[in-house]
Amino acid sequence: DQERIVSSQRTGEDVDAALRPKRLEEFVGQAAARENLRVFISAAKQRGEAMDHVLFFGPPGLGKTTLAQIIARELGVGFRSTSGPVIAKAGDLAALLTNLEPNDVLFIDEIHRMNPAVEEILYPAMEDRALDIMIGEGPSARSVRIDLPPFTLVGATTRSGLITTPLRDRFGIPVRLNFYTVDELEHVVTRAAGLLGMALSPEGAREIAGRARGTPRIAGRLLRRVRDFAHVAGADIVDRTVADTALLRLEVDALGLDAMDRRYLGMIADIYKGGPVGIETLAAGLSEPRDTLEEVIEPYLIQLGLVARTARGRMLNGRAWTHLGLAPPPGAGD
Ligand code: ADP
Repeated sequence: DQERIVSSQRTGEDVDAALRPKRLEEFVGQAAARENLRVFISAAKQRGEAMDHVLFFGPPGLGKTTLAQIIARELGVGFRSTSGPVIAKAGDLAALLTNLEPNDVLFIDEIHRMNPAVEEILYPAMEDRALDIMIGEGPSARSVRIDLPPFTLVGATTRSGLITTPLRDRFGIPVRLNFYTVDELEHVVTRAAGLLGMALSPEGAREIAGRARGTPRIAGRLLRRVRDFAHVAGADIVDRTVADTALLRLEVDALGLDAMDRRYLGMIADIYKGGPVGIETLAAGLSEPRDTLEEVIEPYLIQLGLVARTARGRMLNGRAWTHLGLAPPPGAGD
């Protein structure tokens, strides 16, 4: 998935930092989440206390890391960042926690991938601001309690269902991030073009936004690639035609689907006559892991209403047939 231009995963070439909004008011979209955070941030600031722990959940590339950084900046506190799989031992987390300054933000990305032994020491840290550390082994082993400074844990995960209930229950502020509308992404793209010093017409911005799969990270990446094409073609401004030509060359179609998505849809259409077909069967037919289909390919296709997950398997909706330029078989779902 890392290779796909429409991948929502972070890749090495994403110069994310340059385009990241720094303040809450620069952050486009997610209006409900933004307004709630504004209240919690200002309340914590007024009281001079650490803000309650926040859990962000939603697909990759929607701004979870960005919001975590914004929270720290708006609170005027330090920001430390790590990720679930990186914290190998309980001691690694203990070291991070004991080095925090009062009211700092500690961001843990992919918090659902934390090892259970590490997760367990997080519970008293979140709840009682204390670490219970075992010292020594065998009969002489004893537990020592270390007090921690007040801090805000900001966790990020792709689906709230991936984290354990005891962990989820310890976040006072759960925040779901949703896919962005085309209008919002147009805003994101226009802002990013300004930061990149790139001439982009409103129609050009709209064209890129409409193909960015509801995801700011993808919008930023498409924008940079389109800029390269425009540059080589000698276009001084990226308008609708320049954007469309570049995106078709990149095999990103009008809905933002790439070859991989079309292969998925094509398989259900051609081989299974629109479905229903079981996920395991599809995974085998496409030679892709089931997880990749469920986590990477399907969310956007379902969000577009091209595919439905049913108890009997995956089915194409009428819109998918139209998009593929095919006539649906008689009796196919809509
Ligand atoms: P996540 O942590 O959810 O995977 P990030 O916070 O790393 O996503 O965001 C990915 C990229 O998208 C960043 O480069 C950021 O600049 C951009 N981005 C995300 N949300 C917004 C937004 N609301 N407005 C503008 N740019 C955004």
